[in-house]
Amino acid sequence: MTDNHHYLPESAMAIMAHPDDIEFACAGTLAGWAKAGTRVSYVLCTSGDVGIARPGMTKKEASAIREKEQRAAADIVGATEVVFLREPDGMLQATLELRKKLVREIRRFRPEVVFCGDPTRMWVAGTYINHPDHRAASLAAVDAIFPAAGQPNLFEELAEEGLTAFKPRKVYASRFDGGDHLVAIDDTMETKLCALRAHRSQFEQWDPTESVRERAAHLAKGHDMNFAEAFTVTTLESDKLWEQHHGEALGRYPGA
Ligand SMILES: [Zn+2]
Repeated sequence: MTDNHHYLPESAMAIMAHPDDIEFACAGTLAGWAKAGTRVSYVLCTSGDVGIARPGMTKKEASAIREKEQRAAADIVGATEVVFLREPDGMLQATLELRKKLVREIRRFRPEVVFCGDPTRMWVAGTYINHPDHRAASLAAVDAIFPAAGQPNLFEELAEEGLTAFKPRKVYASRFDGGDHLVAIDDTMETKLCALRAHRSQFEQWDPTESVRERAAHLAKGHDMNFAEAFTVTTLESDKLWEQHHGEALGRYPGA
């Protein structure tokens, strides 16, 4: 299924492992939605503190640099908040503790759509093994989104922080190799690349701009678009249930 910006949620949250993961995965989609009025929140499990290979660079300095870069990238896309959980980069694990931290963010921001990675992605194109932090963040995110966030008697102690159970409407799991749902990003391809370039410390070693553009063009091929981001989309709440629970006017949701 393709989506040329017909579906416009009220709010969206992206949960990823490192600064720059959101830019690779879904910043084009989020930029389009943010421009049209969607509230957008970023949650980064780590601050990428082992991701700058400069002599003398400490983890503390690196995380400060990378958080600043991530905030700049979020500004470019139009995300209104960036949350850093500050788990250790390179050692992320999909623990119950991390699941609870993510449930807290979901119950607080109450996103209609949550973006995450694909926890089943392992072997990539014969040249790369998906980073263990990516796999851990994806799995923790999926497990937080469903069923945990929507279960009032799970992590019920979060009620003391005023946070009650919340079930997101849809999950968009990023798929670099296809997936079942394409979002056209023709209008936001340059914004996506601009946000990616905000991660200046990462460009000291390589420039992924062209490969990102080629990938987006490849995904769009044969569809009525020039550039796309791809997802596996899961609808956890039907239009009818979402309307019952949230009283939304559904005129802007033509069966997305
Ligand atoms: Zn990453």
